[in-house]
Order: sequence, then structure tokens, then C-alpha cells
Amino acid sequence: MKKIKKAVKGRKTALKSKAQRPKAKATTGVRLTGEPMLVEKRSPAMVIQWPRTLMHHHTYGLLSPFFEGLRKGKLMATKCRTPGCEAGFWLPPRADCPDCLARMKWIEMKNPVIGEIFTFTHVEYPGHGIEISYPYYQIDVKIPGAATIMKGYLAKGEAKIGMKVKACFRTRGSTNTILDLYWEPAE
Ligand SMILES: [Zn+2]
Repeated sequence: MKKIKKAVKGRKTALKSKAQRPKAKATTGVRLTGEPMLVEKRSPAMVIQWPRTLMHHHTYGLLSPFFEGLRKGKLMATKCRTPGCEAGFWLPPRADCPDCLARMKWIEMKNPVIGEIFTFTHVEYPGHGIEISYPYYQIDVKIPGAATIMKGYLAKGEAKIGMKVKACFRTRGSTNTILDLYWEPAE
């Protein structure tokens, strides 16, 4: 008991010690830390430009193997294991079978992956947020054995319906997005 009293007394002394007291902040006023906003309009009401940024934390969830595959130059598809269900593979992949709802298995497509242009669009004025140069050909690629037709873009050449195209991957300087997959003429 005596020891505890002594310790408490010691702590009180320590708190009272001037050297250990936190230094009071200078009270010279509140400073402005932001930047002035640009005035866009003054009439009929004042409009300013107020830049804002937003960090969106987006998860690829169960489709992560597809995006990891692109980084490594592999096209990963999914396939249903349920007997009698859709026999084709899914590209772009789906984690669960849309027909029987079972979790699907991953399969690695053998390179080179060759498909053919099913249809295409020549994009002259893309929407906001497109991170490739334009104009470009957005192509729908039919891959033998796939249950789906995959969208993508032709990185070189001129698109024609029925044209054979080869899957290519941005393995250096990957964007970690679907833009890491592009197509080039295979002929
Ligand atoms: Zn299924």
C-alpha cells in the first residue's frame, strides 16, 4: 500500500514538472491551407471550380484469377462442372453458372487464343473515361468453344467481320484492368 501511494505521488510530481508539460501551441491565428478556387461564372450566380478526387476501392472478387491471368499473358475462362449443363466455357468468366448457379471451375486457355470478329464498331468519339487512344475498333470476338461472345478492342489493323484475331496481353506496364487484353489480326 505504501508503495502504491509513493508511486501515485511520484506520478503527480512528474505531471507537475514544467519540462514534461506539453508546450502550448502558438495562438497566432488560423491559417488558410487550401488554394483559391477559380471563378467560372459571376452572373447570374457565382460558380467556382472546386476540384474533388475520389478513391474507389473496387474488388474483382471471385473473378480475380481472370485479371491475375491477364498480367501473366493468360486468358482464364470458367466452365460449369454440372453434368448436362452448358458445355461451353465462359469468357468473360463468371464465378457462378448462370444456368444451374453452381460455382464454376477455372480453365486456362491455351495460347495463342484465336477468335474471329463477330461484329465491330468503329469508335470515333468514345465516352468519358476511355483510357485508350481513339478512333479504335471495338470488336466482339467469337472464340471456338465459348458460350459467350467477348468484347474487346483491336489494337492494330482494320476490323472486318469474320477476320481472325489473336488475344494479346499487356504483361509489361499492366493496367490491372480489362485493357490488359487486346486483339491483333492473326492472319
Ligand atoms: Zn451449370
